[in-house]
Parts: sequence; C-alpha cells; structure tokens
Amino acid sequence: MPKFIFVAGGVMSGIGKGVATASIGKILQSKGFKVTAIKIDPYINVDAGTMNPIEHGEIFVTADGIECDQDVGNYERFIDENLTTDNYITTGRVYQAVINRERNLGYGGKCVEVVPHIPEEVISRIKKVAYSQRSWDGSSESKIRNRARISKPPHQKFGGGGRADFVLVEIGGTVGEYQNLLFLEAARMMKLANPKDVLFILVSYLPIPEMIGEMKTKPTQTAVRLLNEAGIQPDIILGRSRVPLDELRKRKISIFCNVQKKDVISAPDIESIYEIPINFEKENLGNQILKKFGLRPRKKNLKDWGKLVKVIKTAKKPVKIGIVGKYFETGKFTLMDSYISIIEAIKHASWFFKRRPEIHWLSAEYYEPAQIPKKFGAGENSSRSVKELKNFDGIIVPGGFGSRGIEGKIKAIEFCRKNKIPYLGLCLGMQLAVVEFARNVCKIKDANSTEFEPNCRQPVIDVMPEQKSILKEKSYGGTMRLGEYKCKIKPNTISSRTYKTLDIVERHRHRYELNNAFREALETKGMVMAGINPEKDLIEIIELKEPPFFVAVQFHPEFKSRPLRPHPLFREFIKACIKKRAK
Ligand code: GLN
Repeated sequence: MPKFIFVAGGVMSGIGKGVATASIGKILQSKGFKVTAIKIDPYINVDAGTMNPIEHGEIFVTADGIECDQDVGNYERFIDENLTTDNYITTGRVYQAVINRERNLGYGGKCVEVVPHIPEEVISRIKKVAYSQRSWDGSSESKIRNRARISKPPHQKFGGGGRADFVLVEIGGTVGEYQNLLFLEAARMMKLANPKDVLFILVSYLPIPEMIGEMKTKPTQTAVRLLNEAGIQPDIILGRSRVPLDELRKRKISIFCNVQKKDVISAPDIESIYEIPINFEKENLGNQILKKFGLRPRKKNLKDWGKLVKVIKTAKKPVKIGIVGKYFETGKFTLMDSYISIIEAIKHASWFFKRRPEIHWLSAEYYEPAQIPKKFGAGENSSRSVKELKNFDGIIVPGGFGSRGIEGKIKAIEFCRKNKIPYLGLCLGMQLAVVEFARNVCKIKDANSTEFEPNCRQPVIDVMPEQKSILKEKSYGGTMRLGEYKCKIKPNTISSRTYKTLDIVERHRHRYELNNAFREALETKGMVMAGINPEKDLIEIIELKEPPFFVAVQFHPEFKSRPLRPHPLFREFIKACIKKRAK
C-alpha cells in the first residue's frame, strides 16, 4: 500500500511549502523509495494556463502538456521524474469532472453533493497517481483539454511508471481559509479509512517581529488549532523562520501543538533551495517519517546532491546573464517567480562549470525608442540604452505573450547579434530573433508576427493553422500546442553538437510558428534551420553560424533542466558565456 503524506501551510502563504514538499520527496527517494508528488491548487481555474505570470508566477508545462503551477516544476527538479496531468489538481478540475459525470448520469440518479462527492473525487485522483502505471493514453480528458494537439508521440512514459511508495500531496493555500477546506476534508477522510498510511505535515511560519526581537510561536499554535478544527492533527511541524528554531521554541510548539519535540523540524531561511534536503536530514526528518510508517531506510544516498550544494556554496567566479523580459515588475517590487524554470536552468548549467550565476532582470521596455507606434507596444519612458547589454556575458529572451515590450526585445536581440553576445532565445525569444533577422538582415522591413500585427504584410511568424478557429472562438484554455513533441536535428549544427543526438523531444507552449513561406529567404542570408518537427514541418530551432553562440528554440528547454543534469542547450550557452567573459 502506498503511503500518503499531506503537506499543508500555516500562518501565511509564500513560505516555501512547494520546495519543502519537493525536499521531503528527495530525502525519501534518497532512502530508496519511489516517490511522486501532487500539487493541489484551490482556485477555480481549470489549469494555470489562463493566468498572467505576474498574477500566478511561471506556468510550468509537463511532458504530457498540462499548464500547471511552478511547484510541479520544483517536484520534477528535486525528484527528477517527469510528472503528468494527474499530478496537478485544482478546484476547477475537480468540479468540472464531477459535473460532467453528473450530466452523464454517472451518479445513477443520486443527489450529487459537495460533501462527500467533491472530496471523493479528490481522493480518487490522489489514489490514481499512487497506483497508476502512467503513460500518455490520449484520454478523452486530455483531448478535450487540448484540441489543438494533432498527434501525440506514443513513445513516452511518464512518472517513471509503476506504483509509488510515497505520494506527497501539497495542499495549496493556508489552513483556515475557505478555499482549501474540501481538500483538507479529503485528507481527513483518507486518514480515517487508512490511519496507518496517511501522515500530515504542517509547514508553518514563526515570525521574529523587529520590535520584540524574539521568535513567536503563537501564530503556529493558531494554525494547528485551525487544522484541528478540520479534524486533522499534524504529525510533524516544519518551522519556517529567518533563523533556526531553538530548543525553547521547539518545546513550546511541542506542548501547545501536541506533537513530539523531535517532530518539530527547524527550517530556517537558506541561500539556495537545494540545501533544504540536506538541512532536513540534519534534523533527521526522513527517518522520523519512515518510523511513523513503520519503515526502514533501504539505502542512503544524498551524496551527489551534497556535492552540488558544496559547489553552490563555494563557487566564486561569476557568469553574468541578462534576461530581457517583461513579467517581473509589479509596482515597486520585482518578481522572480515568472521565470523560475529559466532561472533554475541557468543556475544548473552555471554550477556544472563551477560558476556563480549572476542573473539580472532587464525590462524590455527600457530599450524601446519613444517613436515606435503605440500599437507595437512602445514604452512611454524608455530610459536606458541597449548598449548596456555589452556588460553581460550572455542574454536570454524568454517566452511571452502580447505586444508589450516586443520592440525592446527585438532591439536587444539585434544588439546581441551584432556585438557577438551569446544569445539564447526561448519560444517568443526565437520568434523575435526571426523577426529581427528578417527585418535587419533580409531587409524585409515590414516583417513581424501576426500575434502583434494581425494584418502584417510580411508575417514571418504566423499563427499555426489549427489555432485559427480556436482563437476565433476565444477558446483559450488549454488549447495551445502543449507538451512534448519530437524534433529532428540537422547534422553539423550547434544543436547536433550540443545534444549529441539528432532525435530529441522537448516541451512546448505556443500558438505561433515560423512561417515556412519565408524559410528560404532566411536561409539564403545565413539563418540555419537546425531543428524541425517532422510531423508538421515546423521549425523548432534556428541558429546563426557566427560564433560565439546564437541559438533560439520554439520550445522550452528550461522545463527539462535538472540540478544534477543541466539541459544541454543551457550548458552550451553558459559555456559560451564563460568563454566570452574570459576574453
Ligand atoms: N506568444 C507566442 C506564441 O504563442 C510565444 C509563446 C511563448 O513564448 N510561450 O506562439
């Protein structure tokens, strides 16, 4: 019987429940168990795809094409497994399934009620993940979700297959709010049915108010009481705080929250999230969990992970990367969440070379000359010169939607091309590299993407044919070209040397593509079409031959980068950046 560990959050959001869950997964895995993880988001959205990254953070995409929360990305990075649609649950998805079943007489004429039918649906989804031998099966749910999908490569296996020993279930939100009550109810029902197989962990926050200067446990006590009201007693409490919990605080939490003192785990702020499993182990968290289930560790191996953490902590020589994007400014604050997988991929690749990544946010609108017509999204207060990009070892233009910042990004790409600054374009960053090259090298002056100029005379980037009706019907949810598709790489290219194979699969999330009508014109002037999707003849990778490094891809390699296995494209990009820096 698989074991289920529910992770809920107390006091406030944003205290790192996702990485805590991922870290617990890593520890259990290192002790020889098969682990999988589920993220539950309490919002009504069926998936995360319709939300603005500034609102929600990055939209992560799984191999089988669900647009989900960035925590699923954290799980994949820590436990090094490809997760699936099933590993992501939202209130919207649960209600949608229950309502669809009711419409199909699936409840056999019964009155369908919030309780128990909603928690029951949640439980069945959690159990499905625990027992499933997952491979993408073209199920009807996926088909409804993604009408744009033409065919799905049948070769893929997801989630490692087989039964999991542990299923970690992170319940989004904070205990005490209305939104996640039904999920807590599902957890409670599971515990009632199988008391020996279910464990609750509360990740709580212990503030140190400046005017008092002392770590306070009361909010955590209140959080536990709220959890008790939902019929749940936490077995373990992870105490998040600025500094480690002292014995006094641990004792207090133990007494007032009704847990053993050794089950109060200190989780202080740290420099790198990858240190967390090591820190948890110092507190003996893994063995505590196993003991509660009556299990013994099968082996112990966090060695490679430990080595990585050492590099993270000791790497001194920097590599300086600029990300020219637009999803990081919110009022007076800068968000990093919108590009989290890209940031992590840069880090993984830098650490591979024992470098310290230095990542800078560059708002594309800085570089927009004021005279560009507003319809192309010119910024009002363009105040900085694109020449500042000279100070970077490499530039990335990431994915994005809508016209704001587009011309600034094109300016940045032009500057990289002309000044030999290593460039990596991701999705939109590839499309704009094509627009830039068409305008400035092929002299197709009106070149643009129909995403920004629907009646463009020279649409070098155009909407994919099957997307036209989708956009017309405004059927936006889950209808992009999503998830893994094959790409055939051209021999003797940067890509072939980088991947060391000519057959790859990468994850996608887009509606527009390079317009094949312009392929020849671009190739004549030296653009290399280095990767093509064989089924659709869709350009997946473009390159420029001139050193140091100019590669742009229609897909999102960042989703596949793992701490101990940096993505080859990021690795080669960082290598080129380090080389440039040495010059
Ligand atoms: N907006 C572009 C498209 O839909 C690029 C998408 C992306 O960068 N993820 O094709």
